[in-house]
Amino acid sequence: MCGIIAYSGPKDGTGIVVDGLKRLEYRGYDSWGVACRNGDSILLHKSAGKIGQVDRDRDMADLTGTPSIGHVRWATHGAVSDANAHPHLSPDGRIALVHNGIVENFQELRRERAELGVEFASDTDTEVIAHVVAEELKSGKDILEAVRGALAKLEGSYAVAILDRQTGTLIGARKWSPLVVGVGDGEHFIASDAPAFLAHTRDVIFLDDFQMVRIDDDGNGGRSLSIHSVESGEEVEPEVQRIEWSLEQAERGGYPHFTIKEINEQPEVIDRVLATDDEELEAAAKLIREARRVHLVACGTALHAGMYASYLLASRAGMDARPISAGEFPYLASMVQPGDLVLSISQSGETADVLASVREAKARGAKVLSVVNVLGSSLMRESDVSILSKAGPEISVVSTKAYASQLSVLTLLSAAVAGDIPSARASLAKARDDISQILSSGIEEKLEEIARILTTAPCIYSIGRRVDYASALEWCLKIKEIAYLHGEGFAAGDLKHGPLALIEEGIPVFVIASDEAVFPETLSNAIEAKSRGALIIAVATEDNDVFDYHLPVEPNGPQGAISAIVY
Ligand code: GLU
Repeated sequence: MCGIIAYSGPKDGTGIVVDGLKRLEYRGYDSWGVACRNGDSILLHKSAGKIGQVDRDRDMADLTGTPSIGHVRWATHGAVSDANAHPHLSPDGRIALVHNGIVENFQELRRERAELGVEFASDTDTEVIAHVVAEELKSGKDILEAVRGALAKLEGSYAVAILDRQTGTLIGARKWSPLVVGVGDGEHFIASDAPAFLAHTRDVIFLDDFQMVRIDDDGNGGRSLSIHSVESGEEVEPEVQRIEWSLEQAERGGYPHFTIKEINEQPEVIDRVLATDDEELEAAAKLIREARRVHLVACGTALHAGMYASYLLASRAGMDARPISAGEFPYLASMVQPGDLVLSISQSGETADVLASVREAKARGAKVLSVVNVLGSSLMRESDVSILSKAGPEISVVSTKAYASQLSVLTLLSAAVAGDIPSARASLAKARDDISQILSSGIEEKLEEIARILTTAPCIYSIGRRVDYASALEWCLKIKEIAYLHGEGFAAGDLKHGPLALIEEGIPVFVIASDEAVFPETLSNAIEAKSRGALIIAVATEDNDVFDYHLPVEPNGPQGAISAIVY
């Protein structure tokens, strides 16, 4: 991922853009850059490395002007270097551009120009876009038409912010990469994600794919804004929405880093989910009940939330609802028929594979219900019904509170399908209290002791049954993502069908057992692993002699299933 932020208004754009880039750092990046318009020139500062310690006044004092554009780059084409960092300029210096995405036909576009003697200042796929926009301008088009002309020549994906030195116009456009417009008072913003400009405005326009925004200096100190179709150029009526997230929610607030902060936010996130109306849940449950079959489509962590929901829907409502990775769904889509429902789960609502799956399913006559965190996201807009998961801004790369929020929404939703929302509310309230209790119990010391063992382990395994299987997979995803340690989760019953061969002296095996309904069988799998020398770390409702470590969790909900939120 990378991030874009652009500003047009009377203030110091560089300061606003540098601050916005720091708020986009969570997206992961390897280099950064800023450009602004100053009279007849474009001033540029870009560099490989991190922006964290950069001080606008100390390091970029000369970079004054407006509009301004900025970028944090996650290199896809061209090495990580100062020259390849964005913004990129057109050869005549009129256009500065930042881009998120991949220009699939960049080699062809570059070759055509290189053959005419045009030189490139970088090895990126991006730079050629600035060249093509400048060529279109030379043919006499106005800036909006020139950008449209250039975008029509691109294959691949883009979110772009483009600054025209001559007119001072700022243009943003998107295709398969997110872009949000911030609507201020006499000043406007363009960014990959709203927290980049939340300090200045909470009024936003979520651009659709193939939409563009044009921001002009109106000559009276103000800025005019219009939204257009990239395909036809026609103006479209914008829908301005108000973001309820506050800036404080998107800041670290005294925690050492965002992951810890978001783990600690879980009780309040569950509280927000608890405030979801029965009516909203009933409307979504009706879609599930009436469906011929439910396809739970998601990626990564959200797919594990989908697994959890599949057990709940089967056991509580007898529903045929299976989790399918969104990346694989298109290959199975021929089974989708009218009357089917896709229940898709996504934090951002912008996951490309999820959106592609949803579109494919709709084309085959299925309905779409989504559980999504970001208001106004593409997934939300493309769904027949959606329920917000209310996790607030997720900044940490590893999902913690967003997973808890997805599980919580799916708990209420499954209960609504089974006609028993009140008991699910009681279970959720207990899960919230159990999490608060664990977070304040001083458990860190014990966790640090276990973590120290993991630092020398070559890998870890984790096993569970039913909803605990989803927890086992999610735990191993976390350990890979956050600790760069190989972890693999298994359905506990599958341990003896191959994986046991990998268990040897000292290998940590996490055993997850949420309830007496699964405890005896999972325990017997733990004993099998222990007999091959495994170190058994159990997260379970009961202790047992076979466990080297036991982290207790209370049973909760029908057959203990709701305690998965705590696990
Ligand atoms: N493909 C572009 C590059 O490698 C943009 C990468 C990004 O999205 O950060 O420069």
